[in-house]
Amino acid sequence: MTEHLDVVAIAPHPDDLEILCGGTLAKLVKQGYRVGIFDMTSGEPTPRGSLEKRKHEAEVARVALGVQVRVNLGLPNRVLMDGPEARYRVATELRKYQPKVLIAGAGRTPAASPDHHQGHLIAEASRFYSQLTKWDDRFGGEAPYRVPHLVYALFPTDAEQRHWHSTFVIDIEDTIAQKLASIEAYESQFDADRFAKVKHFVNAHAAVHGAKCGFMYGELFALPHPVGNDNLMSVVLGSKVSIAAVNLTPGQDHLPMG
Ligand SMILES: [Zn+2]
Repeated sequence: MTEHLDVVAIAPHPDDLEILCGGTLAKLVKQGYRVGIFDMTSGEPTPRGSLEKRKHEAEVARVALGVQVRVNLGLPNRVLMDGPEARYRVATELRKYQPKVLIAGAGRTPAASPDHHQGHLIAEASRFYSQLTKWDDRFGGEAPYRVPHLVYALFPTDAEQRHWHSTFVIDIEDTIAQKLASIEAYESQFDADRFAKVKHFVNAHAAVHGAKCGFMYGELFALPHPVGNDNLMSVVLGSKVSIAAVNLTPGQDHLPMG
């Protein structure tokens, strides 16, 4: 029997999730959760990659993040399309691993692969398909399973400025080094020059999102619904740290933002 996961993160290509939310995935593992990465495709062909190379790089990246499970779903790269067969494939793995949370790469990237947008659609539809009864033959005989929560990990180059119901930021100061190491693992995609640029961008992006919530580095997520809770205090106090314009407590540092 497959050992279940607490969290599954899914995106089209090996390296997508490292860039989108690698810091948070590493952090979840540190916090004691079982985390899986589902790569929809091999990511190949690319100019300097090969199937073997990419597979090796994905494994090095998995180890860098400490993530327990990484599954390649074998859907076609470059021509990834939302449709029944892709949905059955993803939903079969969701039924097997039964995550409590599905983190899906989300956004439409006009200057990068169209797979990203299709992957967003496939992930949403597969989560729904996972729970459907009387269709087990389409999911390798796996029984229906309802994934309770969907979270979006946002492509920073999305063509749209979206009005999500809720967004939140996870503090990744203690795992940003793991995130960068996991991205650097993809040598076939990022040579030294390209990696230097990616590192600059990833650091800057995480610094901007982190700063909004009083963190050195953060990763931004969205929800398809407003945050629900029966306790205002747990939402508010569990959110960003209070930033005083003036340091009222000697010996305690505050970030210089009002
Ligand atoms: Zn990609």
